[in-house]
Amino acid sequence: MSKTEPVKPAHFIRQIISKDLEAGKNEGRVATRFPPEPNGYLHVGHAKSICLNFSMAEEFGGTCNLRFDDTNPEKESQEYIEAIKRDVTWLGFQWNGEVRYASGYFDQLYQFAVELIKQDKAYVDESTPEQIRAMRGSLTEAGQNSPYRDRSVEENLQQFERMRAGEFADGAAVLRVKIDMASPNINMRDPVIYRVRRAHHHQTGDKWCIYPMYDYTHCISDALEEITHSLCTLEFEDHRPLYDWVLDQLDVPCHPQQIEFARLNLNYTVTSKRKLKQLVDEGHVSGWDDPRMPTIAGMRRRGYTPASIRNFCEMIGVTKSEGVVDVSMLEFAIRDDLDKNAPRAMCVMDPIKVVIENWNQSEEQALSIAAHPKDESLGVREIFFGKELYIDRSDFEEEPPKGFKRLIPGGEVRLRGAYVIRCDEVIKNEQGDLIELRCSYDDQTLGKNPEGRKVKGVIHWVSAAKALPVEVRLYDRLFNHESPDATKDGSSFLDHINPDSLTVKSQAYAEPSLANASADLPYQFEREGYFVLDAVDSSADKLVFNRTVTLRDTWAKVNK
Ligand code: ATP
Ligand code: MG
Repeated sequence: MSKTEPVKPAHFIRQIISKDLEAGKNEGRVATRFPPEPNGYLHVGHAKSICLNFSMAEEFGGTCNLRFDDTNPEKESQEYIEAIKRDVTWLGFQWNGEVRYASGYFDQLYQFAVELIKQDKAYVDESTPEQIRAMRGSLTEAGQNSPYRDRSVEENLQQFERMRAGEFADGAAVLRVKIDMASPNINMRDPVIYRVRRAHHHQTGDKWCIYPMYDYTHCISDALEEITHSLCTLEFEDHRPLYDWVLDQLDVPCHPQQIEFARLNLNYTVTSKRKLKQLVDEGHVSGWDDPRMPTIAGMRRRGYTPASIRNFCEMIGVTKSEGVVDVSMLEFAIRDDLDKNAPRAMCVMDPIKVVIENWNQSEEQALSIAAHPKDESLGVREIFFGKELYIDRSDFEEEPPKGFKRLIPGGEVRLRGAYVIRCDEVIKNEQGDLIELRCSYDDQTLGKNPEGRKVKGVIHWVSAAKALPVEVRLYDRLFNHESPDATKDGSSFLDHINPDSLTVKSQAYAEPSLANASADLPYQFEREGYFVLDAVDSSADKLVFNRTVTLRDTWAKVNK
């Protein structure tokens, strides 16, 4: 770690791993894994888990695997696998070796199940799903033993083989482990570890008609990969006894330690793949990568940088207690990065034409202006001054409110990086709509203040002759409720979609340096916010820019 980097907080997982290393556990190895199910795109919550798993491996000289937990073929797809790989890579992490798949262990998982049957610790239950549910008991009541629980090992081996051979209809039989139907922990009441499901699998095709359950698959996959620290979210705390029980029965290469941490919850945001999928499927957004989505793909398209997401994850820390993080912290992280690193440019969203009447040259004047006010290494850009300009409608007021420092009839304002202009005449059409402003410029004010008078306001502008016509998409929060998916009045998260989450400015004009914009380098549009070229909808004849974030937090005031 370099000296300029802040010291990282010693969160409890860092402490556990440090202690394990000091004690010589796992022969001094650290091996973690990120285990997504490929049933949707990754979201900002996953980013927390990715950063945690990969950074623990990185910091302690270990490895982190990427493993697809693919035990539900009906909900999974190759598209999601590719998207997840892209997102992890984009965040700046490199997994250890090849991508792994739980489905790559299906043969071993089957053999381990046979082994459990031979130990008389698993049995084939032919009760209906309803009967199994009814016999499970409740939090206050013990469960009941299934009538199939005491089948002989021989019979179980036979029936399990028949399950695999496709002799049972879907749902007609399951394999369960034999633990304790009276356990206070419902997860330990003879959980199902295999079910019959005739589904084509994206990796194994039609080889299997039985699929192992998550709890059984996960611990064995961890053990086969010789993971040392299996980090997961708190909802798996009650599953840990089962994780440990399964591994204790079997001859596996190691017994990883499961450690739970609190999942990331963000206000004004939904972080559940199922709900995000619903937003996509029902057309509330344009896709998984809609810039309003809290998916990594959406955030990337919106202009979030990998560094900002990683910094955010470091900032929120890792704890054992559930909480809600304010989405303004995420916005702070991206502003902080872009303020330092984004080149500046000018873009006029709602143009009004300004004619400089005392400009007598036939050519535009090229002016050089710093790309960043504090970072000279970003160089300079060229802007052009000339006869016709555009300024933003909101920077002119005929009847200015008190304290208005921008352009007014007869008043002066500085054009950023160029001259002071004065508004001499306001031109309107027959309906009284503003058409253009006739102005004059002071040729003594390039880079210096005018003599004998003060001009306070500075506004952005572009040359009409040189500007690029662009479309600008202004995004706001997708939800206008603090906890859209957990409201007390029984409403659905869909009821809280912000109707103003997208505003399109289709007639905007940008300075010519933006012809070179790329989708992975956001700009600050001066006085407007941070913007990035849209990777999907931009073409050679139409540049589209997405607003990543406003310059300041506008929600803090409005919604208190
Ligand atoms: P979702 O509830 O959105 O469907 P999931 O937990 O089912 O998420 P997985 O693909 O199983 O999604 O998650 C992969 C890993 O990411 C798991 O280890 C999971 O604990 C972790 N994870 C998922 N959501 C969050 C979150 N909000 N905060 C932190 N970690 C998360
Ligand atoms: Mg899951």
